[in-house]
Amino acid sequence: MSQASVEETDVVVVGLGPAGLLASLLLGQKGYNVIALDRWPTPYPLPRAVTFDHEIARILASIGINANNDPTIDYHDDHYLWINKNDDVLLEVDWKSTANDGWRNRYWFSQPELEERLRGILTSLPNVQIRQGFEITDFQQDDAGVSVKYVEVEVDGVATKHKAGGKSGEVRAKFAIGSDGANSFVRRAVGYEMVDLDFYFDWIVVDTKPKVMPKYKTAHFQICDPARPTTVVPGGPGRRRWEFMVLPGEDPQEIAKAETVWKLLEPWGLKEGVDTLERSVAWRFQGKYLENWRAGRTVIVGDAAHLMPPFAGEGMCAAIRDVFNLVWRLDLYLKGIAGDALLDEWSNERREQAKWYIDFSVNLGRIICVTDEAEAAERDKNMMAEYVPGKSADPHAAVLGDGTWDKTNELAGKPSFQGVVAYRGKTGRFDDAVGRGWFLLTNKAKQGESLSDAQLSAFENIGGTVVTVGARGSGADVIDLDGTYAKFMIDQHINHMLLRPDYYVAATASSEADLRTTFESVMKHVVAA
Ligand SMILES: Cc1cc2nc3c(=O)[nH]c(=O)nc-3n(C[C@H](O)[C@H](O)[C@H](O)COP(=O)(O)OP(=O)(O)OC[C@H]3O[C@@H](n4cnc5c(N)ncnc54)[C@H](O)[C@@H]3O)c2cc1C
Repeated sequence: MSQASVEETDVVVVGLGPAGLLASLLLGQKGYNVIALDRWPTPYPLPRAVTFDHEIARILASIGINANNDPTIDYHDDHYLWINKNDDVLLEVDWKSTANDGWRNRYWFSQPELEERLRGILTSLPNVQIRQGFEITDFQQDDAGVSVKYVEVEVDGVATKHKAGGKSGEVRAKFAIGSDGANSFVRRAVGYEMVDLDFYFDWIVVDTKPKVMPKYKTAHFQICDPARPTTVVPGGPGRRRWEFMVLPGEDPQEIAKAETVWKLLEPWGLKEGVDTLERSVAWRFQGKYLENWRAGRTVIVGDAAHLMPPFAGEGMCAAIRDVFNLVWRLDLYLKGIAGDALLDEWSNERREQAKWYIDFSVNLGRIICVTDEAEAAERDKNMMAEYVPGKSADPHAAVLGDGTWDKTNELAGKPSFQGVVAYRGKTGRFDDAVGRGWFLLTNKAKQGESLSDAQLSAFENIGGTVVTVGARGSGADVIDLDGTYAKFMIDQHINHMLLRPDYYVAATASSEADLRTTFESVMKHVVAA
């Protein structure tokens, strides 16, 4: 085995699923040297996630992927319906409208295609080195950094094995990101264990490419039929996804066989020889999370930190939120502006929000994973009594855990909205016209009210921008073309909004005194080490 000398880098990323790819990309764009390792010699080719929400669309837009007109992403003008075996609606989720950040509530895609897009953008960053086919075998850290040893592997059936005579190496980094999925080596290496919610159900995940795209009563639905709970959803352009629950006493591997799957697909109009079965695989859906996501100079993100059943389509979304919330903090940490406390706030924020989605998904799972007729009938009766046609369950009520935002303010800790604005000759959504990063938005009518000089200079030191917002002709920096900001500020009796680089609202205030007080408390770990 050939052993290279120890390579030094800023950040080592272990695992290149969506979380690791996005982390490498965002850190690379900020100018950091990154070495990113993944066990598989080639990217994982088969679909897993098929849907993401508006927050993820907004994040993808920041790296140039426009979900509204990308050939690998689509959307459907339908609600998400949960029906019983008689076709009665039990629950309805609005997956049709546009959220107040300007992006649609739901998009559909194929995970390998999205990962390929991220990889493509990564190739333009010479400071990010991608190493596929290398498994980490040793992980140590001290106060100054992290040391990771890795060996080359080759594919051996459905697993990998160490390659005889293959390369090995060691990376010394200032910081490590453990994005190595459900069975995370990094998580184990730092001695952390997940809390297990004891939710385990076996399902068969089936991906198809129909010759002619079938049309059903709604694009996305769950069939809560105790005879075979079933999920029927799109799979991105050209694909459809089915998930079939494995019933008690059945062998998941038998149900996953192509001949069984074609029989299950028959009622849906798909035929062997006509349509393509891309894959069929048994999967155990589970609910787990990690209490603490930071260990020294290491953070654990994505599936390595949280696992949820896919009924809400939020697992990868959570992984992407983890990373988008992390990278601006890590930037301040690596620059020596912020200390450990800012990363601990990230851990608190992300754990609580991920837990909300895990609970939401597990509860949806407990609705559908019912195979007893009497229990299903009782469930149907109760849910139908509560169901109001057209009224959506809110899948996005999740706020962050305590952290870098004003928890006494009910407008904070949530994703910010955005309107259409004009700014320095550019017109469009706020993110595109004004930019991304820390912003203090002040009502033009109150432009005399601001941060103290010391606060202002600390804010500028972290790249913060102060702008006034007002109507056309008001002389404001940002022209509120559709009145979104004016309406919000009037309705909520506020004049100032402090927005974070991950688009979350950190604080709002109505007066200068309130602004300075809330800024001080929210930013205490951001601007001071
Ligand atoms: C059937 C199914 C349907 C789903 N549907 C959705 C959905 O519609 N929407 C949604 O948001 N989410 C969905 N998810 C969840 C989503 O796929 C995951 O949450 C997402 O892939 C997590 O990304 P990640 O980067 O954290 O981990 P992963 O994608 O698991 O990536 C981890 C990487 O780490 C590598 N690795 C592991 N160990 C090592 C090691 N020792 N050394 C080097 N590399 C290593 C692996 O090779 C892998 O590439 C679904 C999941 C499943 C199973």
